[in-house]
Amino acid sequence: MSGASFPLAPGAVIGILGGGQLGRMLAMAAARLGFDVAVLDPEPDAPAKRLAAHRLTGGYDDSFELSKLAAIADVITFEFENVPAQAIAILEGLGAPVAPCGRALAIAQDRLAEKTFLNEAGAPTVAFADVNGAADIVAALERLGRPLLLKSRRGGYDGKGQVWVELTGEAADAFAAIGAQPAIVESPADFRRELSVIAARGRDGEIALYPVAENHHEGGILRRTVAPAKVTAKTLAQAERIAATLLAALDYVGVIGIELFERDDGRLLVNEFAPRVHNSGHWTLDGCEVDQFEQHIRAVAGWPLGPTHAIARVEMTNLIGEEANDWARLAAEPETRVWLYGKDEARAGRKMGHVNRLSPLR
Ligand code: AMP
Repeated sequence: MSGASFPLAPGAVIGILGGGQLGRMLAMAAARLGFDVAVLDPEPDAPAKRLAAHRLTGGYDDSFELSKLAAIADVITFEFENVPAQAIAILEGLGAPVAPCGRALAIAQDRLAEKTFLNEAGAPTVAFADVNGAADIVAALERLGRPLLLKSRRGGYDGKGQVWVELTGEAADAFAAIGAQPAIVESPADFRRELSVIAARGRDGEIALYPVAENHHEGGILRRTVAPAKVTAKTLAQAERIAATLLAALDYVGVIGIELFERDDGRLLVNEFAPRVHNSGHWTLDGCEVDQFEQHIRAVAGWPLGPTHAIARVEMTNLIGEEANDWARLAAEPETRVWLYGKDEARAGRKMGHVNRLSPLR
């Protein structure tokens, strides 16, 4: 670490906790701006490591590897939100600048803290209640109505650790089904569409928002994103207000992904936020002048943010499991950009790549 002063000059080293596809695409963007990256991941051959000047292998609680990372990197960021908050505390204790801040990560890791924070910040969510046992579910069914969606507070993603509860008699089994761990219950969002907004905040507090994207899930996993989504001026204004509120309340630096429910009356509710680049922002790689990955690198490095307007309409489709084996056919499609993550094992449900299908803006 060079006692970093911002903006970081080209040649500086960006540390990344996590070596998956998001880290890989961050590494590509960093290279484009003349930075090197140092990647820490438990997997020796993680996708981002193939592009990294410095490869560190160890758990995120490995204080020796964390101290090596702090010594090499001028700024440290993360590509997934299950990095233990303790790792960020260790890095900060070593004087390494970390962005986004550990507080944003800690809030996003706990659905109860997240929903509480969102409501306190003035960002609307569905009604929810704290659950520490079946009795809390029964009480919530009385108070909030039914059905309710039971979600573990921690560790759940892509719809994992979630179960609907309709009847009082189902409460005990539902709590057992999510592993009898601290949880929340939520009212149904009654949404007509799932939208997301990818936003960024620079070190100087400047904010940039990408056009709103429309997302389609299958089996709890993002399947398709269409962007820019057709939204009314009122919806856009709500999305902008929500993003600006969260970024300021978190004193955030970097890119954030905010998942939204659009209700029939046009009201937006926040489902959750990811303190990192986001799958529903992959369309920006080919649809915007400066994509979310470069934007994140710019923000954490203290550079000015880049333009976020769309230059094409994009339909992004995730390639899940064996779908990525179709690369030759996909690469032959006109106006289709293929992004593959370099993962060798195409396990079911694993995100192996994505395609961006481009068409002119209307
Ligand atoms: P999450 O893990 O919170 O991102 O939820 C995964 C998916 O489950 C979301 O993208 C929605 O499709 C659905 N979902 C989550 N929360 C709710 C809710 N309160 N009501 C209805 N559907 C939900």
